[in-house]
Amino acid sequence: MKNQLDRPVGAAEGAAGGRLRIGVMGGTFDPIHYGHLVTAESARVKFGLHRVIFVPAGRPPHKSAGGVSEARHRYLMTVLATIMDPNFEVSRIEIDRPGPSHTADTLRLMRAESGDSCEFYFITGADAVLEMMNWHDPGEILSQCQVIAATRPGYSRERLHNCAVEMARRFGHHPLEMEVPALAISSSDIRRRVGEGEAIRYLLPDAVESYIRKAGLYTAV
Ligand code: ATP
Ligand code: MG
Repeated sequence: MKNQLDRPVGAAEGAAGGRLRIGVMGGTFDPIHYGHLVTAESARVKFGLHRVIFVPAGRPPHKSAGGVSEARHRYLMTVLATIMDPNFEVSRIEIDRPGPSHTADTLRLMRAESGDSCEFYFITGADAVLEMMNWHDPGEILSQCQVIAATRPGYSRERLHNCAVEMARRFGHHPLEMEVPALAISSSDIRRRVGEGEAIRYLLPDAVESYIRKAGLYTAV
């Protein structure tokens, strides 16, 4: 799997005899914002992950094709948002693969490439966890990795917990629940704000805002 530094997933970086713990943060990232970044960083710290790989979705199966910005824009914004953090990387694995992006396939490919040297943690916010049971092959996702279920404003802890219990009952794997600082930020709200001429400063990194303005994204919503 190629990432922005072309570093193989299993590259030696001091796992001291153990397996590397790799976080995988999937998303549309249209655009990436501080809610994504704080969730990834919280997971890294809480679960001692060696790095977090952001995986912009190629063609998100659950979002209408016309409504999503081109992959090149979403990839570049994700790189801009993470470039200064040595623990964060961006993978092109989904955007370079034709066809719909299924998380189960992505995790299988990443695991195949890394062999036994890594263990994977799929980081996901509460809304996505609640939807995961309707995704393609949720049992496969839960057996390929540890799923980290993060809190998100608008989704109660109780609902998240009940969903984790249900997943454990159905698939035999209990997602790891994680509380993250509540940031009521969403990409759809940022797109709406740009379209309506409202401010987006401090909702996302400055470089990403500059890119949005330069590329003229989200002006016609
Ligand atoms: P959209 O509004 O277009 O759906 P989004 O803000 O939900 O965008 P996504 O790219 O869909 O962003 O989300 C990627 C992942 O990040 C998902 O697992 C989602 O739950 C999580 N996530 C997004 N925003 C937050 C947030 N503010 N707090 C916690 N998790 C978040
Ligand atoms: Mg979303």
